[in-house]
Amino acid sequence: MKRGERALTLCMPITCKRRDEESDEEHTFTSFVYKARWFVLAQTDGQELDPITIPEWDAERAMKALGIERVPFDHTDGNVQGFSRGRHIAINPLAQLPFKTLFHELAHSILHSDEGDFADDETTPRSLREVEAESVALLCCESLGLEGADYARGYIQHWLSRGSGSNAETIPEKSAQKIFRAADQIIRAGRLELAPATA
Ligand SMILES: [Zn+2]
Repeated sequence: MKRGERALTLCMPITCKRRDEESDEEHTFTSFVYKARWFVLAQTDGQELDPITIPEWDAERAMKALGIERVPFDHTDGNVQGFSRGRHIAINPLAQLPFKTLFHELAHSILHSDEGDFADDETTPRSLREVEAESVALLCCESLGLEGADYARGYIQHWLSRGSGSNAETIPEKSAQKIFRAADQIIRAGRLELAPATA
């Protein structure tokens, strides 16, 4: 940190577990806490952040195959992890879980790009689209062995319970089909061995 810079207070979602005393079942829920421990990138010194790479899945290859383009992150709200605008997506260089966010935004782009723009903070209610995008991210993280699945589960439950009330635990069948199709598309598009031959 540069000397004299003060941490910003930001809202941060955390996943909590609670044991039901009567049934002894464990419930997970998402809670939001305010922490004064964040700095924005401009307040820090040091090396540029390099994007993290994983060997078996290539983000640039995937985006090219899907016809989705990465644009610079120009959102002024540091709480926003990423956004998608039609076939363009952007990821906050300080996203907590950059791959999870990337999958989430790719999912919005694939599934919802004809429904308008998205800016992803953790507080705007648009429940089912969020459930779909985050479920895609969950499947992608799990199939590539990346962190983020636990966070995604909490986030999905949070939106499910806000969105549908009575049917809070269920992802509608139509959404489930969209989720599996999009996750499959994203994984395939970035897999090295499935890349088209460039002879
Ligand atoms: Zn979203």
